[in-house]
Amino acid sequence: MPYRAPVAEFEFLLSHVVGYDRVTATEAHAEATPDMVHALLTEAGRICEEVLAPLNRAGDMTPARLENGVVRTSPGYADGYRAMAEAGMTAVSADPEYGGLGLPQTVTTCVNDMAGAACLALQMNPLMTQGQIEALENHATDEIKALYLPKLISGEWCGTMNLTEPQAGSDVGALSTKAEPAGDGTYRITGQKIYISWGDNDFTGNVVHLVLARLPDAPKGTKGISLFLVPKLIPEADGTPGVANSLKVVSLEHKLGLHGSPTCVMQYDGATGWLIGEENRGMAAMFTMMNNARLGVAVHGVSIADAATQAAVAYATDRTQGKPLVEGGTGTILDHADVRRMLMEMKAETFAARAMALDLAVSIDLGHTGDAAQAARAAVLTPIAKAYGTEMGIKLANIGIQVHGGMGFIEETGVAQYLRDVRVSAIYEGTNGIQAMDLVGRKMMDGGAAIHALIDAVEFEAGAHEMGAPVAAMAGALRAATEDMLGRDLNDRFGGAVPYLMGFARVMGALYHLRAATAGDKTRTALARFYIARLLPEAHGLFAQARAGAADLYDLSADELAA
Ligand SMILES: Cc1cc2nc3c(=O)[nH]c(=O)nc-3n(C[C@H](O)[C@H](O)[C@H](O)COP(=O)(O)OP(=O)(O)OC[C@H]3O[C@@H](n4cnc5c(N)ncnc54)[C@H](O)[C@@H]3O)c2cc1C
Repeated sequence: MPYRAPVAEFEFLLSHVVGYDRVTATEAHAEATPDMVHALLTEAGRICEEVLAPLNRAGDMTPARLENGVVRTSPGYADGYRAMAEAGMTAVSADPEYGGLGLPQTVTTCVNDMAGAACLALQMNPLMTQGQIEALENHATDEIKALYLPKLISGEWCGTMNLTEPQAGSDVGALSTKAEPAGDGTYRITGQKIYISWGDNDFTGNVVHLVLARLPDAPKGTKGISLFLVPKLIPEADGTPGVANSLKVVSLEHKLGLHGSPTCVMQYDGATGWLIGEENRGMAAMFTMMNNARLGVAVHGVSIADAATQAAVAYATDRTQGKPLVEGGTGTILDHADVRRMLMEMKAETFAARAMALDLAVSIDLGHTGDAAQAARAAVLTPIAKAYGTEMGIKLANIGIQVHGGMGFIEETGVAQYLRDVRVSAIYEGTNGIQAMDLVGRKMMDGGAAIHALIDAVEFEAGAHEMGAPVAAMAGALRAATEDMLGRDLNDRFGGAVPYLMGFARVMGALYHLRAATAGDKTRTALARFYIARLLPEAHGLFAQARAGAADLYDLSADELAA
């Protein structure tokens, strides 16, 4: 089934659910009016439908491969990348001073959503670059900015992020890549990085790596990490790519999915690097990139949730099987209550996960204008949106296969690819478990103030809505679970962190549905009713798990677990 870009859905969400008008009310984004956003999303949507979506299967069937040290990308990817770059889709929010469009992150989020649904493996490339651009804009010297940003923003070059090493995955502080001052202001970077997305390609003039490494005598752990920019080709002063740097792609991983995205083992052998930000403060700079990527990966989940839902509805509309138990049916499997249940769940969850990603993006945009309360709100929503968005991508891709019956398990429908491709989104950019620990750990270090502010707003709004009583009540249960968390030690919190996060997401999802029901038509009301009646109650069980602490999780010894 051809992918359809949901431009009208974005416009509904921006106008009626996430308060995008607050972004255009700021001086920084006064020009990002609904009309200009409509024009941009319409054109981006056309590229996604006509250029990117037809490449999705090619990437799956013909993965990127390593040939004499150079990554050869999947058929058509070079053209797809070029189309995105020419339309400005790769750097929508980048600084206009260096050639970017300077539009809000909220608009980038809509564009990334469509591009990810059309061809997730290819969209991974600009997503990495977008994060790198933001990190350089915030932490690089003017010289580095002038040399690199115009090329990255135009799409002539692309960027990567290099954190992971064999012994340093979730525990980034365990990394051992070395950086030694060369005496001329540059550094020599030596070490191996694994799982590096788009570590090389055959369609950009250069690949710019942001690499975390340790200086000699650096403190142990994350306090001793610095960030370096390490280009594949060292640019001349005028920006022309010059001599090759001392780095290479050693191998590509064979993966469950996302085959078109080359996942590289990178070797740095005294490669020339430039410090970004301050020595030993690399994590602060890298966090700019990681927070950007966390929203981007949340959107990966939404993209696939949408693509899977579109495919499932189209299939169910055609497939005839069984006798309906209702009058006036269509004669297809759409008549069956259980198929209806699956499709309603897909539509209701896609809406809620997308609304959350856009809500987060709006708070990020407002936070960037100096609104501290919105920045704190964004910090709370980031782990929730990342984990909820990606879990929904996985769940709905799975349900989508079920709607297709046997045809879902057969590769030619393409719906199995959705599940294989999106599965990793719960793992990279901080596993969803790590996101949940962030929510109940770092994000509660203010004593729960930012979380309570969010809950206050939900209770207030839901309390005034005719369908809102169960939502307000569940917000109360979230408040109680939050108080319980705050009273516990850290490991107890961690034992309940994932269910707490998912229950939190249920409450937020219900709020977005209430807003949609207020502004929308019969469809919006029906989906809101479905979400509140069938999905929101899951939060009861989730909060009960959240309050269970960690003690029982250690009831079995390591030997007993292994027995
Ligand atoms: C396809 C792909 C692309 C990737 N792209 C990039 C990239 O571009 N750049 C990059 O730097 N990295 C990249 N990664 C790496 C990715 O970010 C890591 O895989 C991820 O951070 C998890 O690390 P790990 O694989 O070592 O798992 P581990 O850290 O070993 O985790 C294993 C399990 O233990 C849990 N766990 C670990 N520590 C804790 C803890 N303290 N408390 C509770 N649970 C814990 C985890 O949640 C997980 O369930 C990519 C990975 C893949 C698969």
